[in-house]
Amino acid sequence: MINRNPNIANIKAGYLFPEIAKRRREFAAANPDAKIISLGIGNTTEPILPHTNAGLLGGASALADVKTYSGYADDSAGFTKLREKIAAAFYKDLVEPDEVFVSDGAKCDIGRLQLLFGAEVKVAVQDPSYPVYVDGSVLAGAAGGWEGSGYAGITYLPCTAENNFFPNLDLIPQNSLIYFCSPNNPTGATADRAQLTALVNAAISKGCIIIFDAAYSEFIRDPALPKSIYEIENAKICAIEVNSFSKPAGFTGVRLGWSIVPKALKYASGESVNTDWNRVNNTIFNGASNIAQAGGLAAIDEKGLEEMRALTDFYLGNAKLIRSTLQEMGINCIGGDNSPYIWAHFPGRDSWEVFSEILEKCQVVTTPGAGFGPAGQSFVRFSAFGHRENVEEACRRLKSNFI
Ligand code: PLP
Repeated sequence: MINRNPNIANIKAGYLFPEIAKRRREFAAANPDAKIISLGIGNTTEPILPHTNAGLLGGASALADVKTYSGYADDSAGFTKLREKIAAAFYKDLVEPDEVFVSDGAKCDIGRLQLLFGAEVKVAVQDPSYPVYVDGSVLAGAAGGWEGSGYAGITYLPCTAENNFFPNLDLIPQNSLIYFCSPNNPTGATADRAQLTALVNAAISKGCIIIFDAAYSEFIRDPALPKSIYEIENAKICAIEVNSFSKPAGFTGVRLGWSIVPKALKYASGESVNTDWNRVNNTIFNGASNIAQAGGLAAIDEKGLEEMRALTDFYLGNAKLIRSTLQEMGINCIGGDNSPYIWAHFPGRDSWEVFSEILEKCQVVTTPGAGFGPAGQSFVRFSAFGHRENVEEACRRLKSNFI
């Protein structure tokens, strides 16, 4: 018999959303009349808008005609036109098309990127953070094995109210891979130019590479806040960026994202990370769906970008409602202004206990902060992904039933 990969047993956070679903099921079984509203997960709820949808339909129709049919691409990095358009639309040509790698989503890219650095690499993550940074590292064996409540190879960088949700960069180990997400999931905090400049400088001085997750960049409304790490000087020698059509275009089920791996980015040996990323992708990935890429092309032409703006405005409208409700209730929170997440503080309380209280009193599902890392304890995340009437009803119930 073949042994199980021992790293699988060490994955922890895969337990968060199934556990929330289990508690929701148990509550529903005990309260069959309850009309439960979920503000728990980051899944999109609104339909894809017409112009972008026409792109998807066109992509599907092209496959049904012998004159326009296409199969595998020669290179898994995506349609040349889409790579060019991403470089122009999102990076104002700060990056070149051959630094853009189109993919089936940011999460998949995050999982594959770890292959570039192997099991020996040290990892630093914001705490709390999107679970795949830690779990992907554990799966790749880079965590250094289970050690009590943490992993020896992973350094947690606490992001708390005390440090305004930006970590102490002195904690970052030399020669490590730094996962950094802004606007952040779960805290909703968005790093400003000075903070990102400090991050880039710290990475360069410590010989680190940043994996910058910008999956929520299209929610940024403050023009002073950088949408990409490449807006920061010298970022191209120390940072990879991942991004996605999932949240701003409603593509969570379509599956389309991209990574940027600059040609100036080198390993300690001087070899090119860009060349290796191309190689890894061509080895274990056969490219994003042709239909999804056709949709992506439509999503970033002039009309598509207007739709993206409308869709993100809609979710930001929900976020504003949730945030103002919590503030009226006297609950301290951040996020929700340049991000679809609101991070609410319940000092001294256990986040699962707060989750249960909100579920019981309001029939609203949230996400307990502790599920995103130790520093998430006593916080709860509210997601703005929901239909407007559900968000309004959830806010009414919070105001009248909670506390
Ligand atoms: N990165 C962050 C921070 C996310 O919150 C999510 C999804 O919730 C993703 C990446 C996943 O993106 P994709 O759907 O492109 O895999």
